[in-house]
Amino acid sequence: MQADRSAPVIAIDGPSGSGKSTVARALAARLGLRYLDTGAMYRAVTAAVLAAGVDLGDADAIAALAPGLTIDISTDAAPARISVGGRDVTGDIRGPAVTAAVSAVSAVPAVRAAMVARQRELIGAGGIVVEGRDIGTAVAPDADLKIFLTADPAERAARRAIETDATVGATEADLARRDRLDASRAASPMAQAPDALVLDSTDLDPEAVVERILRALGTAAPATTTGREL
Ligand code: C5P
Repeated sequence: MQADRSAPVIAIDGPSGSGKSTVARALAARLGLRYLDTGAMYRAVTAAVLAAGVDLGDADAIAALAPGLTIDISTDAAPARISVGGRDVTGDIRGPAVTAAVSAVSAVPAVRAAMVARQRELIGAGGIVVEGRDIGTAVAPDADLKIFLTADPAERAARRAIETDATVGATEADLARRDRLDASRAASPMAQAPDALVLDSTDLDPEAVVERILRALGTAAPATTTGREL
């Protein structure tokens, strides 16, 4: 734990649809910790970029806009409201337009620098479960526990398709596209931290995943036993 932190930080990273949000929120509630959804922050910036009519291919224009945006997000374990530049975008950020554009916006280094700084501010003294793609590697490399949550692509697509009107096939293609962009960008790509515990949720319900993480917290291995399966 970092010297200036008084309470733990738990990092949960992994690809879209692996169950991060459900698990991270349930874990925070079980442990009485705060919760931060960093994906919602990148989605909020994307909503602002789209609202401003900025061309998604124009990284300079996105870089000029993003750092000046004020993101307000609560860190309660209850589903959070989020606003950007004073505008509530809680509903917009889950829509298809933002989902289609978010990986392009989140790949812009100036966007990442601004979001990572804000995320560190929100993490503050700790006592929080933080979910995203680069929490264990870039945002909080000193987190007390790092989980990399995965699941088979078909299972991830099936879970996401239930939340939208899209077919499982179209959802699987979209998840694969986002994973590819998120893992291949130059600035803090989605990655498994060397000291993360890997948890495959394909055959587990969220409660079982939370139980395994709680078990790992009780027996958290030193960073040398890396990349082991939970
Ligand atoms: O988690 P969620 O699917 O809402 O994230 C939306 C997008 O935000 C991801 O596809 C990725 O492009 C971006 N993201 C990121 N870094 C994070 C969290 C999310 O780049 N820590």
